[in-house]
Order: sequence, then C-alpha cells, then structure tokens
Amino acid sequence: MKKSKVTKRHDLTWDYFSLWIRHRDNHTCVLCGNSLEDGFIIQAGHVIPRGVSRITYDERNVYGQCAICNQTHKYYPQYYFKWFIAHYGQELFNDFSDKEKNNAIVKRGVGYYRDIADKYKELLETAELTEYEKVKVTSLEKRYNKLYD
Ligand SMILES: [Zn+2]
Repeated sequence: MKKSKVTKRHDLTWDYFSLWIRHRDNHTCVLCGNSLEDGFIIQAGHVIPRGVSRITYDERNVYGQCAICNQTHKYYPQYYFKWFIAHYGQELFNDFSDKEKNNAIVKRGVGYYRDIADKYKELLETAELTEYEKVKVTSLEKRYNKLYD
C-alpha cells in the first residue's frame, strides 16, 4: 500500500529524531556498549513505548540501543528500566509510567510533526557529523524538501 503524505511526514520526523538520538549517544548501545563502529545496528529505543504519545519525542525517553537489546526490551523491560532509573531516577520513571497508564490518543496537527522535524534537522545540520551521518542527513533532506515544498 502506498504511504500517505501524512504518514511520510510522521516517518520523516521520527527518522530525524532517531538519527539525533543515535548521534547524541555516539551510535553506541547504552545498555551493552555494542556500537556501529563494531558493526552493530544501532536503533533509537524507547524506555516507555513509543505509543505513549506525550513522550514519544521526549529525549529523556529514547536512547541508542543495539537491535539485540531493543528486541530484548520487549520481553524483559526490567533491564532497560533498571538502567534508566540508575541514570535518571525513580521520580522521572514514575512520571513516565503515569503517562503510560493515562495514555490517550492525542490528535496532532501537521505543524506538530513539522516543528519536531525542523528542530532536529537544524540540530543535525549544525552538529559535527561523521561521514555515515552526513549521508543520512543528505537523504533526509531530500525527503524533507519533497514533503515540505
Ligand atoms: Zn545492546
């Protein structure tokens, strides 16, 4: 099925955000230390699931994770939760957990996603990037220009 423009815009926002998180965390898994440099796929993994819309794009809720740890998180969330609490404290964890318990579908306008895309686009464009990241940013820019002309 062909993706709608709205879906493509959502995907683009996530891809900018995800690349920023991975850049921030040096393309290294915060849990086990596997890194892109060592040949591992690094993803941006949510502590509290992505579906909790109020914190989907909260930088404190998303960290570089290797695909193995990200997958493990689905079945053993305690591992990532423990790490999070050790770094950011029980209070923030409880706050995020409450948001998950009281999660509701929040309808967002186009502007919401565009603002987030713009923020991370600019952060990436002004950051010192590796060759790998430069390639990624160039391809994101092409998509951005197509979706927001
Ligand atoms: Zn890992």
